[in-house]
Parts: sequence; structure tokens; C-alpha cells
Amino acid sequence: MSFTLAIVGRPNVGKSTLFNRLVGKRLALVDDQPGVTRDLREGQGRLGDLRFIVVDSAGLELVDDDSLQGRMRRLTERAVDEADICLFVIDARVGVTAADEYFADILRKRAKHVILAANKAEGRAGEAGVLEAYGLGLGEPLRLSAEHGEGMDDLYRVLVPLADVFEAENVHQAPVTDVDVSEDDDAEDLEDWRPSAAKPLQIAVIGRPNAGKSTLINKIIGEDRLLTGPEAGITRDSISVSADFMGTPIRIFDTAGMRKKARVTDKVEKLSVADGLRAVRFAEVVVVLLDVGIPFEQQDLRIADFAETEGRAVVIAANKWDLEDDKPQKLNELREAFERLLPQLKGAPLVTVSARTGKGLDRLHNAIIKAHDVWNRRVPTARLNQWLGAMTEAHPPPAPGGRRIRLRYMTQIKTRPPAFVVMATHTDKIPDSYARYLVNGLRADFDMPGTPIRLTFRDQG
Ligand code: GDP
Ligand code: GDP
Repeated sequence: MSFTLAIVGRPNVGKSTLFNRLVGKRLALVDDQPGVTRDLREGQGRLGDLRFIVVDSAGLELVDDDSLQGRMRRLTERAVDEADICLFVIDARVGVTAADEYFADILRKRAKHVILAANKAEGRAGEAGVLEAYGLGLGEPLRLSAEHGEGMDDLYRVLVPLADVFEAENVHQAPVTDVDVSEDDDAEDLEDWRPSAAKPLQIAVIGRPNAGKSTLINKIIGEDRLLTGPEAGITRDSISVSADFMGTPIRIFDTAGMRKKARVTDKVEKLSVADGLRAVRFAEVVVVLLDVGIPFEQQDLRIADFAETEGRAVVIAANKWDLEDDKPQKLNELREAFERLLPQLKGAPLVTVSARTGKGLDRLHNAIIKAHDVWNRRVPTARLNQWLGAMTEAHPPPAPGGRRIRLRYMTQIKTRPPAFVVMATHTDKIPDSYARYLVNGLRADFDMPGTPIRLTFRDQG
């Protein structure tokens, strides 16, 4: 049994429905009527190949009891304390309520790890609620529909890396519960559910020769399918390799193999840049791998810039971190250099890894997933226009020659990467600094790090 997951949240958000889905047995009562007395209940959860204990803290809506608050708090705290991971559920159709804030507060103080989920998000009805959920400051909400089984893929994806962490920790601990975890034949479970066989996430690892690309790719695909080492002259075809990266199906572009081929022709520098460019075109997420000993070399900068221009999600990974003695100092230096040399990639995640030891690969995995999510993000138009109103009020556009530029309306025209268009007057007079103000605002307010954001103005008289 790898870890304990507690489902926490105010009444009626769908905790029991979710519990049932994960446990697969009709153990928990589901009822629209408030007042059904329930207590903490546990079961064996399954999601794909994951096995874990689920604790349902439903049933906090005990009738006419002035100790309700106290009871609610005690039960939740018990569930939270027992759990490795808390799945905090809100109702996307209702949005964030005062009771949600109350639970968020308990979780922030006590939980080891929180996953935020906006349930009842099937169809479009939950969009506003999902966005509100960002405001809880508990990270990006998963969109779930417990009733329809939607979003289980995403839940699986966030659980996998955490499962590894808690599994390792729990080996040294007494079992947290004596719940019967044997397989149950009658279980109506998620047998037919599989981690999505959907298109694998396409990744390219780029960087200067000897940054450690082959070592990293070997580590990720978990076998010696690529050849590493100082020996030159290994001829290979350019290929992409399929792999399972911590539960995420990926295809990874094998730049390293290409470089070794290139070496034969003795045009290392030139060709490795060309390889990098091809890799960028192939990828959805580009990992710019730096050697911490010689970070942000010209070649790294050129390829990173190209990734931005091509509109790819970017993650910066500083490799050979095992060689660094003064890690905090080095990290500061890296951050500073990153901001100075790659301002166009502002907000892209910077993670440290050791391809040799495998340390930090979980961070890299999470950064890739997050960057990919953001790259695919869609912000509803209503929300954007509210935001545009607030932005122009806080800092109105200039009035060249006394005629004020009006930003009338805004919409997102595409994803991968997110692109927005603003209908405006006198678009030719809008200064770049104002466009940057809007782009930076979008990034910050809609939590979109690590992705290029395109913003254009369209003239409306
Ligand atoms: P709990 O009090 O948090 O355990 O909530 P329940 O699981 O008892 O669900 C409360 C109500 O919400 C029930 O009527 C469920 O059928 C309904 N519900 C649960 N999940 C969903 C969902 O994903 N979509 C919709 N539309 N309704 C849901
Ligand atoms: P590539 O040219 O970018 O594919 O780099 P390689 O993977 O061939 O690695 C170049 C050299 O750096 C090899 O000697 C690796 O063993 C070494 N190397 C790669 N990753 C690490 C790391 O995380 N730490 C240390 N200390 N050495 C590494």
C-alpha cells in the first residue's frame, strides 16, 4: 500500500461520488439530502496501476448541532493528519464559498500535500468555478467530474510522482491503517479505466554538447537505448523514442544520437545547433539542458530563443547539480543569469537535476507536465474581459495626441501556445511597453509560466 489519500471538502461537492469511483464499491452513501450521518470511511483506491487507501471525510453536515463547526474541524483534521495527500474538492458549479475557504485554511496549515479539484466540471458549466479555485492559492485545480468519470487521467498524472515520494517514505513507517486491502472480486472499479492512451507528450532535450543530454534521456527512458560517453563516432539515425516518464507517456526526440552522427562529419557545433532546431520543431515541451559548470552559453541561448519564437513550452534544467557545492548560491546565480539573458522566457520553470544520479527528475517531470498544461490552457472570454477591464483601469493606455487608445474586447484565439487578440482603437499607437504590461499580467493572473504568450491588437476604428 503506497499512500493514503483523504478526500476533503465541504458537504455536497461530490466527495462520496469520487470515493465510490476510486474505491469501486458502493460503500459510501451518496445523497442529495443534507443530514445523512456519516463519518470517516476508508477503502482501497485504485487508479490505473496505483493502489492506495482512500479516506472519505463526507458527512460533515450533521443537522442542528451547534458543535457542527467543531465536529467538522475535528473530522477533517483527523483525515488530513492521517493522509499523505489530501484531495481538496470544491464544486465548480457553485464556485468558491466561505466554507471552501475555511477548509483551504485547515489544509494549508496541516496537510502534507494538497491536490485541488474542481468537481462537477463536466460540460462548460464549471468554467468560472474552476478559475475561482485558482484564487485559493493551492495551485492549479484539476477539472473533475466524479459522476461522469472525467478528469481521472489528470488525477492519475498528479498522483504518480507523489506516490513515488510517499511510497519511499512509508516503507519506514508502521501501516497507517489496518484496512483490508485484499483484492475484491466484486469490486466495481476502474478496471476499464487506463491512463490515457492519447497522444504522448512530445519532448526534446536540447543543449550544448556534453551538457548531459544522452545521460538524461537514458535515465528517463530507463534503459540503455542510447549510447553515452566520450567516445565519438557512433553513427545513428535521428529518431524519437517512446517511453513512460513517471506515468506520463512521452515521445522524446533523440538529439544526442544525431549529434554523435554529426561528429563523424566533424562539424559538431554547426550541426548540433541544426539538430536542436529540428528537435524544437518536433517538440511540445523543450527542455533546455544546461551544464551548471558552463550555463547559458551562446548556443543554449540561441536554441532557447528559437523555442520561444516557435511557440514551444520551455523548461530550463540545470544539469550536473551533483557537482555543485554551494547549491543555494549557484541557484541564485542561475536565476539571475536566466532573467538577464532570456527575458523572453520569463516565468519558465528552472529546475536542477543530476542526470547521472537521477536526482531532481521528479521536479523535471512536474515542470514538464505543468508547462504542457499551461501551453494548452484556455481562458474563457468573460473572464478575460473582466481582467482587461481591471488592467486598463489600474493602468490606462496612453493618449497619443490627446486621443485615448481604447481596448474594447479581448478573446483567446488559440492554444499551444496561448494566443490572445485585443480589439482596440489606434492599435498602431499602442506602445510595446503596454503590450508587455498585458502579457506579464496574463502570465501572473492566469498562472501561465513557461509558455510563450502571443498577444495581438486588432483595429476597430
Ligand atoms: P459529498 O457530500 O461531498 O460527499 O457529495 P456527494 O458525493 O454526496 O454528492 C453530492 C451531489 O452532487 C449528489 O447529488 C451527486 O450526484 C452530485 N455530484 C457528484 N459529483 C458530481 C459531478 O461530477 N457532476 C455533477 N453534475 N454532480 C455531481
Ligand atoms: P550530451 O553530449 O549532451 O549527450 O552529454 P552526455 O550525456 O554524453 O554527457 C557528457 C558527459 O557528462 C558524460 O561524461 C556524462 O557522464 C557526464 N554527465 C552527464 N550528466 C551528468 C551529471 O548529472 N553529473 C555529472 N557529474 N556528470 C554528468
